[in-house]
Amino acid sequence: MALNTALQNRSNNVCELCTEKDENLTAYAVPPKNDDSNDNVVVVCSKCLAGITAADFSDSNHWRCLTGSIWNEVPAVQALSYKLLGKLKSADWASEALESVFLEEAVIEWANAEDEMEASKVVHKDSFGVVLEAGDTVILTQNLNVKGANFIAPKGTIVRKIRLVAENAEQIEGKIEGDTIVILTKYVRKQV
Ligand SMILES: [Zn+2]
Repeated sequence: MALNTALQNRSNNVCELCTEKDENLTAYAVPPKNDDSNDNVVVVCSKCLAGITAADFSDSNHWRCLTGSIWNEVPAVQALSYKLLGKLKSADWASEALESVFLEEAVIEWANAEDEMEASKVVHKDSFGVVLEAGDTVILTQNLNVKGANFIAPKGTIVRKIRLVAENAEQIEGKIEGDTIVILTKYVRKQV
């Protein structure tokens, strides 16, 4: 997005992270905010934007700029700097910057919000780590003692049209011999 006048003034037409002048300065909405109101965006250069979108923070000399930008008075810049420093905190300079700065609670929550949402997402995976989706077909990777139904579903049994147990990433449901049963994801392999 091109910069509006207020953002041009706020940023002095330089990247609010690394202070580079760049013809392609962009307004980047700091997740999980996704609208481009001025309060939610940071003016970034193409280099910073590329690093952020690719989650590539390997150029630590470049990202040292965050030790300066975290002191910016704009909350969006603080939140983004804090968030990115968090990705780099194995480096001493980054963890020191995180410790030395004092930010409003709301800014820190903002900085952490996306990762927390990601972490709390329930993702079902089979025994090989392949993501399972509702409707998938799976194969049992070991004999399964079906409680209550009094039979053993042998290894290799194909279970079609599974359902995912919403709150539990370790459980799916599927029909075996007409009975819908709960199956642990660690005992199945997705048929592809
Ligand atoms: Zn930059």
